[in-house]
This record gives sequence, structure tokens and C-alpha cells, in this order.
Amino acid sequence: MEDAPTTPNPARETAAPSLPISETFVSIQGEGKLTGVPSWFVRLSGCNLRCAWCDTPYASWDAQGGRRTITSLVDEARATRQRHAVVTGGEPMIFDHLADLTQALRAMEMHITIETAGTVLRTVPCDLMSISPKLANSTPAPEDPRDPKGAWRRLHESRRLNLAALQGLIDANPQRQFKFVVAEPSDLPEIDELLSRLRGWSAGDVMLMPEGVTPPDAQRTAWIVQACLQRGWRLCRRLHIDLFGNKRGT
Ligand code: SF4
Repeated sequence: MEDAPTTPNPARETAAPSLPISETFVSIQGEGKLTGVPSWFVRLSGCNLRCAWCDTPYASWDAQGGRRTITSLVDEARATRQRHAVVTGGEPMIFDHLADLTQALRAMEMHITIETAGTVLRTVPCDLMSISPKLANSTPAPEDPRDPKGAWRRLHESRRLNLAALQGLIDANPQRQFKFVVAEPSDLPEIDELLSRLRGWSAGDVMLMPEGVTPPDAQRTAWIVQACLQRGWRLCRRLHIDLFGNKRGT
């Protein structure tokens, strides 16, 4: 007797885990404690915020790219022979399959940095949690043409700081750093106030990054240097901007 023909059941078929990817590339890490370290970068496309000065609008305001399977990303990472992976965005922490990716990269013994704004708490394998809480200077202006009805301005303002998520990220990640994008000295009280509400961080984790996509001159950084000297924080330039300018894939 012949076997009954089997009918494919789409409900049973599980698609391979995938993530929306804006770009992947090999470069040196330009920011933070691992500045200068050669790394494989994977930029996830999509963000729950809309920073006025976002330097990767192609992963936020105008999220571009397509989905790629975890398998293809891991194969690419392996082929680069890099030891460090930087998972960035956009906002990587909003994606369910993020942990699948970092788990697989860790299985290859890669060191994993996740770059996040710290608004979402998710359990995910990671060796350095790089948190960049967004200050008031990030909120889109009322006249921003990308946001004519102000919907993103309101959403951004309501989402940009999540104390519970920030504390959870500190608690779950012994290796972490805070990178604050600063534009004016008036940003400092906001940072002081935020940090006063968090526990478990140290001054060496805190970095001030001058806002802008051009190398900051001495005048622009003088007050930032003073703030770092007073508080024991670090000045964080963007080495990739110094070396390559504001170019994709660097
Ligand atoms: S959180 Fe990052 S990716 Fe998202 S809008 Fe702000 S700067 Fe751009």
C-alpha cells in the first residue's frame, strides 16, 4: 500500500531566524573602551527612537536593508576572521532574534559588544554592553521636517530614558560603558541627575562624546575635558570620524 501523500503544513514550517540588517563591514572600533580594536560590525536596521542628530538615519528615520538569516551572518563573521563583533543599530535590543545571533557568535569565541540606547531590557549574551542613554538634546525639534506632526517627538521623549532598563543592563553586564552624546555644558546636570538614580556603575564607565559628525576642535571639547577631569569620566572621540569622516561602512 502506498504511503498517503503528505501535504506541507505552513503552520508547522518555521522560518530560519533572521534579522533586519542595514550593513555589515570590518573596521576599527571608533568609540569607547575598545577604541582601535579591529572588529566585524553588524548594524541592525530599525529603532524605537528618533534622535534629532542621529548619525545613522538609514537605520532609524529611514530604515533600509533587508532581512538576513542568523546563519548567513555568522558565516560572514567567521569568514572575516575577526575576534571582535560589534552589534549596533538602529537599536539591536528591540529584535527578538538578537540573542540567537550573539549566542552563535559567542560559540565561535568572538568578543561581543552590543551598542544600545538602553531603553529595552533583554537577556542576551554580551561581553561589553555599550549604553548610550539619550539626553534631552536628542529630541527632534518641533520644526523637524521628518516629523511634521510631532508624533516621533512625543514618542521619543516618552521612551528615551528607561531607568528600570538601564539598571537592569548595569546589573546584568559587569562589563559596560555609558556613552553620553553632549552638545552643551547644560547637558551635564542631566547626566549627573540620571547617574544619581542608578547604582553599580563606576566613573571609569562614563564617557562624554562630543555631538557632531566632524572631528571636534579644541574649543568644542574644552568644557568636556574639564567635566571629565572634575568627575573622573572619559573623553570619547570618534576615531572612525577622525580617520574616515562620516562615511558608511567605517
Ligand atoms: S538611538 Fe541611535 S540609531 Fe536610534 S535614532 Fe538615536 S542615534 Fe539613531
